[in-house]
Amino acid sequence: MKQVIIFGECMVELFQLVDNVYHQAFAGDVYNTAVYCKRSAAQQLNLKFLSAVGTDLVSDKLIAQLEQEKLDSSLVFRSKTARPGLYMINTDCFGERSFVYWRDSSAAKQSLALFRQQGSVAQLLPADVFYFSGISLAILSPEDRTYLFDLIKELKQNGVQIVFDPNYRPALWPDADLCRANFDKAYALSDLALPGLDDHKVLYGSATAADVLAQLQKLGVKEIIVKNGPAGVLGYSDGKSFQSPAVPVKKVIDTTAAGDSFNGGYLSGRLNGLSPLASCQYAAALASFVVEHTGAIVSKEQFRSFSGR
Ligand code: ADP
Repeated sequence: MKQVIIFGECMVELFQLVDNVYHQAFAGDVYNTAVYCKRSAAQQLNLKFLSAVGTDLVSDKLIAQLEQEKLDSSLVFRSKTARPGLYMINTDCFGERSFVYWRDSSAAKQSLALFRQQGSVAQLLPADVFYFSGISLAILSPEDRTYLFDLIKELKQNGVQIVFDPNYRPALWPDADLCRANFDKAYALSDLALPGLDDHKVLYGSATAADVLAQLQKLGVKEIIVKNGPAGVLGYSDGKSFQSPAVPVKKVIDTTAAGDSFNGGYLSGRLNGLSPLASCQYAAALASFVVEHTGAIVSKEQFRSFSGR
């Protein structure tokens, strides 16, 4: 069975149903990717979530949720001083959604500090893939970021494939220069990159997906998938570029986790031996299903109706 380590934050999500009534779930970019990857690949992959939670009841529920999704929680460390981050999705009278976050002191920020105290690199090996995002990087202290890059180098030396999605969130970085410097380091260590064109437009001033491809090729990334919403993706692997279209949908309901679900589908395809193009086709079908539904994670029943198509 292939081993995948997914590093980052899972938060408590409060989704407004009607005035002052909220549905509680768990979500976060890398968690969403882990769920869709595991659901797609079923028993062939063991996905270990590397993160931290607190010692409170909500943290227990978060771990129970990981286990319900058949994700391995053995690398989720417990902080005695912090709790999971939280965000609320509110909808105004015009149907516009807005997000408010409480994550500045979340337990996930301590993940690597706790890993250094209580865990060991041996617990991560052997592994096939280490997956992380720009959000996983953004929430760390500068010292922990340096440690993460050293850890990734060590994993690479042990044959682990490194996969990175920048998922740029300006509010999580003190300034764009620091963010670019960290993303450049992350890309330079990555075997597979899954950037969104929109992120690169804002952060690097890229105009087209081809610009992003050229930039990441220069940094030495061997497999690149540039996502561009309904315009599909521009991919690159084995020295050749290719296009793969999005799957049109009748009505977009909620684009939350479009990119995360695409990544989960793409990873599961690649780890199960599909080509980059076939993996893009599966991932696009999955992401199009996700944007037709509310919330980051579709229910298991909805997912079954997707897989049975
Ligand atoms: P990111 O959030 O990482 O920038 P995108 O917004 O490009 O990701 O979306 C990822 C994938 O989700 C796209 O490549 C496409 O397959 C699918 N997708 C996103 N928006 C739509 C849409 N409106 N219709 C159909 N598919 C979509």
